[in-house]
Amino acid sequence: MKTIYLDNNATTQVAKEVLDAMLPYFRDLYGNPSSMHSFGGQVGRKIRAAREQAAALIGAQPEEIIFTSCGTESDNAAIRSALAAHPDRRHVLTSRVEHPAVKSLCAHLSRQGYRITELPVDKDGILDMTQYERALTPDTAIVSLMWANNETGVLFPVGKAAELATERGVLFHTDAVQAVGKIPINMKANAIDMLSISGHKLHAPKGIGILYVRKGTKFSPFLIGGHQEKERRGGTENTPSIIGLGKACELAAGNMDTENRMVLLLRDKLEAEILARIPNSRVNGTRLYRLPNTTNISFEFVEGEAILLLMDDYGICASSGSACTSGSLQPSHVLRAMGVPFTMAHGSIRFSLSIYNTEEEIHFVIEKLPSIIERLRSMSPYWNLGDQACSVR
Ligand code: PLP
Repeated sequence: MKTIYLDNNATTQVAKEVLDAMLPYFRDLYGNPSSMHSFGGQVGRKIRAAREQAAALIGAQPEEIIFTSCGTESDNAAIRSALAAHPDRRHVLTSRVEHPAVKSLCAHLSRQGYRITELPVDKDGILDMTQYERALTPDTAIVSLMWANNETGVLFPVGKAAELATERGVLFHTDAVQAVGKIPINMKANAIDMLSISGHKLHAPKGIGILYVRKGTKFSPFLIGGHQEKERRGGTENTPSIIGLGKACELAAGNMDTENRMVLLLRDKLEAEILARIPNSRVNGTRLYRLPNTTNISFEFVEGEAILLLMDDYGICASSGSACTSGSLQPSHVLRAMGVPFTMAHGSIRFSLSIYNTEEEIHFVIEKLPSIIERLRSMSPYWNLGDQACSVR
């Protein structure tokens, strides 16, 4: 059975060019990039090239790029660095819809006595900028707001938010793990101090990330050890993955416009056909400010996980907006923050596309999904209650 992979916000396929660039550094060119000999030195040069490729993708300078082990490490390093740089400040300003890489860290910091403000979003997933401005205080050590939401694809106005934070003398970090490679980013044209990237979301391998730190920003390392990364992140470099990520950044920079136009067309086709063919379905999150590859669709009165299981029988991979926690299905914190009604939130599915998807695949999903939903609804007591079901919403 062919796999139809529509779960690219979870992880992406490593590009062939990326794998080809990496392989020699496992097999033959295994020297330590910090070694004095030329065998290691040639690897060091390749890492410098990867740093330049990564910097070019986001309009940064190479020395502003710190290679890390993943997006989670980058988020943790940014927030902890800001707290270390401003020990007199005890407030972190973030949102209710952040990825656990930020959200769980903030919960941990709260238990340690830090004051955390999680800004709400409206029903479309949009941040209230008036509340944001009000929440910035002289005690705020850092703002951490995601650029693009991993579940809905909704974009936050991080450029404007960073400008306001900078005016008030507050550091600004953005988790751009879902944004990099999907929308243009130019660090020369914004006031963002720190930005997180994860390799496996842009066709590089898992276990490699980047923390961008603007030149002049006070930085306190998370991993203390050797002199690597200009003493900002100790540990022998994950050489093949850094080289792979450099290649992935080069590919993204070269192809972003054309590729994302194609992905957008496929996403819009999928979305429009699903909404047209399946009654009581709706898109979660604004359709105005959104990643081109993501759509989060709710199917009323069915369980997301049941939809995933039936789609899996056809080889279709996606994600659901509810997760089985302690035996009960909980809608995601993102959909809850948006106030998505109970019966909608439970039946939400995130489709996230990549350049490797084809029109035939999208047609296949459009063809199979209506009967899957119909079958599940025929077994749903709520659906069969008809209008009376409104009372359970
Ligand atoms: N931030 C966002 C928005 C994400 O979507 C993810 C991964 O899903 C992460 C952070 C964590 O990245 P990593 O898996 O590289 O730790």
